[in-house]
Amino acid sequence: MPLDRMSTTESKSVIGLTIPELPPLPDTLRLRLGECRTLPSLPAAAARVIGLARAPEPRLTDFAAAIQQDPALTLRLLSMANSAYFSRSANRVVTCHDAVSRLGLDATLAAAMSFGLPRPGASDALDYDYLWQRSIIAALAAQQLAEQLCPDEAGQLFTMALIQDIGILALEAVDAERYSSHVPSLRDHDKLRETEHRLYGCDHSLAGAWLAISWGVPAPMAAGIADSHGPLEDGNPKRLCLRLSCRIADGWLAHSPAAAFSDLLHQLALLESLDIAMLVSVLEDLQQRLPTLAKLFEITCPPDINSTTLLAEAKELLFEQNLLLNQRLAEQRHELEALLARHDELDEQHRTDHLTRLANRPWLEKLLVQHFDCALMGKRPLSVMFIDLDHFKRINDLYGHRFGDEVLIRFAAALENMVREDDIAGRYGGEEFLVIMPNTRREQASKLGDRIRQYLASQPLAKTEGEPLHVTASIGIASMEDADFENVNAMVDAADKAMYGVKHDGRDGVAHYKHRD
Ligand code: GH3
Ligand code: MG
Ligand code: MG
Repeated sequence: MPLDRMSTTESKSVIGLTIPELPPLPDTLRLRLGECRTLPSLPAAAARVIGLARAPEPRLTDFAAAIQQDPALTLRLLSMANSAYFSRSANRVVTCHDAVSRLGLDATLAAAMSFGLPRPGASDALDYDYLWQRSIIAALAAQQLAEQLCPDEAGQLFTMALIQDIGILALEAVDAERYSSHVPSLRDHDKLRETEHRLYGCDHSLAGAWLAISWGVPAPMAAGIADSHGPLEDGNPKRLCLRLSCRIADGWLAHSPAAAFSDLLHQLALLESLDIAMLVSVLEDLQQRLPTLAKLFEITCPPDINSTTLLAEAKELLFEQNLLLNQRLAEQRHELEALLARHDELDEQHRTDHLTRLANRPWLEKLLVQHFDCALMGKRPLSVMFIDLDHFKRINDLYGHRFGDEVLIRFAAALENMVREDDIAGRYGGEEFLVIMPNTRREQASKLGDRIRQYLASQPLAKTEGEPLHVTASIGIASMEDADFENVNAMVDAADKAMYGVKHDGRDGVAHYKHRD
């Protein structure tokens, strides 16, 4: 029975329109497609089905009504709906409405579209048998992968994968002779696309997307077809399913599927979103479902692949993948540890005085603010001690700056030993040191001052020409109870003032700040 086809001029007039989702076709190809009289077209009923699918809320009844006008398509859908693939009950469906309801809108759409396409054996130039086998493997693979990675998209991915190569038919229609003579084997899909790019400025995925647009396929779906042959990468599960479906079909129908799949598995081992064990189970399911689908589309069933070899290979890869993962984890852990260590080191450098290794002035000031605030809020004692070494300039002048440095280092080490665990000793500048004494009243603070004096009196900080060198210090102390200090600066100034009092009185002594109203 001749099929009621939609008008070719009507369908082709959309080729070359601006569609935001889709890159434009190269000019020459666009013109040739526009003029071509033999482009694959769809039965009018199928075109109407696609049109309905674009509606915001497609209704089963409308689908059934559109399909019923084409008895051949109706028969095909009834037999699909009653096949083991779709039928879960013994009830046979006899109406178009029930068939559509059982198949679902996506499968109905896929069947309607495939119905208009050239059947195996339709031409000598192209191996349609191969193309059909490729399409149904890709369709099943995309659907099965989607069920794992993005279940809501499974139906639409089936249809998109099924028609992702229709561009081959379009290119063959506009340029039959050159296409079949220049184009290498359909089995080498990458080379095929390379040659198409050279001949037409784009490959069949874009040509196919525009052909789909001319059939009325919704733009996002056509855009998916245009994008279906890109590299395998993480990030977008829908795109990954479609792109991988095409590689799976390639591998399945390759002369040496084992080698082709081994290649594919190695590429996939680099992806994070894909678990190889899941992929192997997808392939096994696919193998089981393929014969029924082949029968539905009335094509020769693609040969089985050897899943035992595949499994062995996959296991090895899984092992490698785990090793790689562990190795990456260990590397990351090392990097993190090194970073943390470096951070600690920098932090330490940031806080310490490079000569004496005591806390430096900025760090002392920061800690002092914290302790001052805590003491104020908690009404707790706090004392600050200012130490200035006496006549230090003389030491430098007599023995040299380096010697002076050594004396400063020794004093710092002795000071660090004398303060209590909670005290913080630091170098405030030159030969001046500061000790923060949390929870310490003036009497206790005095004791540290005396200890320092006694130590300096009994222990020489250096020797010069065999003679011990004793250094003295002037020490001023300010304690929270001495006055209502407005802030830390006022407290440090008070300790400094007390220290100057000692200097004034002849040095080598300890004094407390005396507040005068
Ligand atoms: P005073 O008893 O009045 O404090 O006398 P002084 O000489 O200790 O005080 P002055 O402020 O006049 O001089 C401080 C000296 O400390 C002068 C400076 O060269 C020395 N000085 C400061 N920082 C360093 C340092 O890092 N290393 C050495 N070797 N000397 C330093
Ligand atoms: Mg000084
Ligand atoms: Mg001094």
